[in-house]
Amino acid sequence: MTTEATFDVVIVGGGPAGSTAADDLARRGYSVLLLDRRGRIKPCGGAIPPRAIQDFAIPDHLLVARIRSARMVAPSHAKVDIPIEGGFVGMVDREIFDEWLRKRAEESGAKREDAVFEHLDRDPDGVCVVHYLRLDGEGKSHPESVRTRAVIGADGARSKVAKQAVPGAEDARYVFAYHEILSAPGRENGEYDASRCDVVYRGEFSPDFYSWVFPHGDTVSVGSGSADRGFSLRQAVTGLRQVSGLEKAKRLRSEGAPIPLKPLRRWDNGRDLVLAGDAAGVVAPASGEGIYYAMHGGRLAADAVDLFLRSGDCKALATARKRFMRVHGKVFWILGVMQWFWYRSDKRRERFVSICRDKDVQQLTFDAYMNKELVRARPAAHVRIFFKDLAHLAGLLRP
Ligand SMILES: Cc1cc2nc3c(=O)[nH]c(=O)nc-3n(C[C@H](O)[C@H](O)[C@H](O)COP(=O)(O)OP(=O)(O)OC[C@H]3O[C@@H](n4cnc5c(N)ncnc54)[C@H](O)[C@@H]3O)c2cc1C
Repeated sequence: MTTEATFDVVIVGGGPAGSTAADDLARRGYSVLLLDRRGRIKPCGGAIPPRAIQDFAIPDHLLVARIRSARMVAPSHAKVDIPIEGGFVGMVDREIFDEWLRKRAEESGAKREDAVFEHLDRDPDGVCVVHYLRLDGEGKSHPESVRTRAVIGADGARSKVAKQAVPGAEDARYVFAYHEILSAPGRENGEYDASRCDVVYRGEFSPDFYSWVFPHGDTVSVGSGSADRGFSLRQAVTGLRQVSGLEKAKRLRSEGAPIPLKPLRRWDNGRDLVLAGDAAGVVAPASGEGIYYAMHGGRLAADAVDLFLRSGDCKALATARKRFMRVHGKVFWILGVMQWFWYRSDKRRERFVSICRDKDVQQLTFDAYMNKELVRARPAAHVRIFFKDLAHLAGLLRP
């Protein structure tokens, strides 16, 4: 094993967070090594908002479907259809999307390695050393190590980098999500509509989160999430397929993965390392949306590392979390309260879906999702929603 090269930055994980950070830093002229373990497609519904497409210059050809409406389904089967006015939600296929992001980083100058990160270490002069197994074309692994001035840990939920370097990372909590990728039926086949996402709130399919049917062009993702380890997500998805008219659709893949529930309190080691994306615990509560937040987190981690490398001040690393929470902290907090309050029982889920009939609620939800902003220009709507929410809560308290 040799420790020869010294990089400005080593990035562990080439998902949306790591690839975005690698691209941003390589474009600024830093020497970047991007380590990613090949071979596994990230289990994911693949829904991205217009803000992600715009901020991260995602080309049209990566969008396998454009979603024009969302259907909220209550435990009683009551349905609320919400049109997505003046826009669409893009659907990406993670196998193609992630590889495209890694290639973009490479074209910008990052060096890519098919590799499995092993551990961090320090040379006698204090410089960080990253140890990994490089995978060659024949599947053989070779131990390697590199010296680096900074590290970005973007290796996803249950991050090995976070556990080794950032205090508190081992306490992270997760929802587990499982989905099946099916061959899509015809464009409109009974309940199924290839331009509509269904979000299903039924305790039978998820006791504490939600379930979904997300069209992806030729395929469709049908899945569910729960933090309850005793709950059978496979059975839930079988049931969901039945009620969605997809029981006969051909199953192409089935897979699951944890979704972090809360941003970690600390994302950096106070010395030369910062986390981004799922590794930092960054997924929106209630919705489980993580791709946009991973990319934004990757961008802020790149900015923080840039500042650190230019100034030598380790405190610069903490700016990634500070800036992220300043922009998204309030929305995460509101979504966290929503999940805690509304996803508790079928009675509450029923009311939650009925609230979604309200045009003000629909408008604000979509503004927040599509543009990642709470719209200040609509104070009257905020006040109306506040009072309507109170009325709903009061309704819950009645015997
Ligand atoms: C079933 C499911 C459905 C979801 N649906 C949606 C959705 O519709 N929309 C949405 O926005 N979000 C969704 N999410 C969340 C979203 O997938 C994640 O938040 C997002 O992928 C996080 O990106 P990331 O780059 O931080 O991590 P990841 O995408 O997990 O990428 C981490 C990368 O690190 C690599 N890696 C890990 N360990 C090592 C190692 N030791 N050495 C080298 N490389 C390593 C992995 O191979 C991977 O490429 C869903 C999640 C799940 C589980």
